[in-house]
Order: sequence, then C-alpha cells, then structure tokens
Amino acid sequence: MKHCTNAYPDVIREMRKVIKENKLLGLAANQIGFDVKIIIVNDTVMYNPNILEGSDYAESTEGCYTVEGTHIVLRARNILVHFLDEDFNEQIQDFNGEEAIIIQHETDHINGITIDDK
Ligand SMILES: [Zn+2]
Repeated sequence: MKHCTNAYPDVIREMRKVIKENKLLGLAANQIGFDVKIIIVNDTVMYNPNILEGSDYAESTEGCYTVEGTHIVLRARNILVHFLDEDFNEQIQDFNGEEAIIIQHETDHINGITIDDK
C-alpha cells in the first residue's frame, strides 16, 4: 500500500460512506480498493498510521468487513500511534481499549495482514 504524501479527500468520503452504510467500527482504504495507507477508526482519519509502542497484550475476538468469520488475535490494550490527521497534521497519540484494538486491526490491513493471517 502506498504511503500518503498528500490528503485524499475523495477516498475519505468514500470510506465514510461505506462505514456508515455497513455500521463499521473502522475501515482501511485497501478494503474498498484504494491502494493507499489510510484508516478511519471512530471517525478519526489516520494517514500512514504507525504503531510505535504497544503494551498490555490480551486475546481479542474479531470480525472483519472483508474476512469471513471471527478470529482470535493477540492485541495490545494500550498503544502509541504516529499518524497524519485529516488536515495532514502530524500526531502522536495514545489509544486504549477497544479503540486501540480497532486501530491495530485496520493498521494490519494497510500492511497487507488480515485476521486470517494472525
Ligand atoms: Zn478488517
């Protein structure tokens, strides 16, 4: 997946549409055919997300918009993420709980990994 060097408002618009129509918690751009590193989690847009640190690992039972069935995967409950926000400003933020899990799930997607591979 391509590293983003500029914002992609059209891709964001399309992703939000799919999230709304399917009541998703998160989505990665490549799940709907866009070859760029963008995820949206709880309406937070992240360009080029990179998980810098993770702690407090535990099993998580997850489903996916583009993978059949549920899978048990190991996820950190606390993460530190570097990303560019919707306005392309650099952010380094902590996330925890369910939000941290979804960010890891979607970041895996843009790195070519699904819950099927874990
Ligand atoms: Zn997924």
